[in-house]
Amino acid sequence: MIEHLTDPALSVVIPVFNEEKNLQLLYDRLSAVLQQMQVTYELVFVNDGSIDNSLGVLKSIAVANASVNYISLSRNFGHQVAVSAGLDAATGKAVLVMDADLQDPPELIPQLYAKMQEGFEVVYARRVYRKGESFVKKATAKFFYRLLARITHVNIPLDTGDFRIMDTKVVRVLQQMPERNKFLRGQVAWIGFRQTYINFTRDERYGGSSGYTYRKLLRLAFDGITSFSDFPLKMASMLGFIVSGGAFLLMIYTLLARLVFKDYVEGWASIILSVLFLGGVQLICIGIAGEYLARVFNNVQGRPLYVVDEQNIKAREEKEV
Ligand code: UDP
Ligand code: MG
Repeated sequence: MIEHLTDPALSVVIPVFNEEKNLQLLYDRLSAVLQQMQVTYELVFVNDGSIDNSLGVLKSIAVANASVNYISLSRNFGHQVAVSAGLDAATGKAVLVMDADLQDPPELIPQLYAKMQEGFEVVYARRVYRKGESFVKKATAKFFYRLLARITHVNIPLDTGDFRIMDTKVVRVLQQMPERNKFLRGQVAWIGFRQTYINFTRDERYGGSSGYTYRKLLRLAFDGITSFSDFPLKMASMLGFIVSGGAFLLMIYTLLARLVFKDYVEGWASIILSVLFLGGVQLICIGIAGEYLARVFNNVQGRPLYVVDEQNIKAREEKEV
């Protein structure tokens, strides 16, 4: 993409799903911080099919402030897609991604930005402590990040979400990655360049409730694993070898029992057990292959990643004249 003189120094991309209670405060805190930083900036809010009045609030903020852009998607496409839509629209030389619920404190932005000026292309915020989240969520998140680290070759940073600042170089590469099952934090790690992090304490969500249901979280986890690891596929074949090895031993034993020990009347239990066990293993392996196949199918269909309903961003060409 051609760079323009009017491009702001910093774009802030914010996905929004049912955040009407948080948006005004978020905007107030954000604009206070950004004005202090004395950089040119734009905000890109992406309304991800909210069913509350988030869009109304966004519109009223945008009317009063020229640096506020919004894109409204035609339905709920999910957090990762909403962020991708925001990245597509962002024109800043640096692009920052943050949540709308004030869990990612805007006051951290100057630190992230300053760190980037030291010569890094990506600075992510690592949550060393998460306030007000359930034990189950923290424990499963911790487990997931460690599992992912073990079975992938890409060095995906532990305990980081999408709260980060990226150089426009990185954003352009992200846009060129056509996969539909987005796992942005993994993709950014894959891209490389100089990356670093700063630590922060993740605040409690200010108002409303989390739009990330366990179902969505599980899907994100599966997308992360299948996009960055073929370990499950290998595990399926490994399991196959182990189980057939066991079956082979059992076969020898069965033949011995039949021909040598002549002790073969019983054995119902072992038949049932091995049938059930084999059935289970086979289903798991088919399932694993299916997960990958479903994602291949999804990518081959070639549908657009998201559909925009309305926005206040004009096409760049129009903006020029
Ligand atoms: N979000 C979104 N689409 C969704 C779910 C969430 O755009 O389907 C946004 C949400 O508005 C917030 C961010 O993604 O800005 C993180 O979501 P949430 O706070 O619900 O996740 P959590 O912090 O609980 O993991
Ligand atoms: Mg949140």
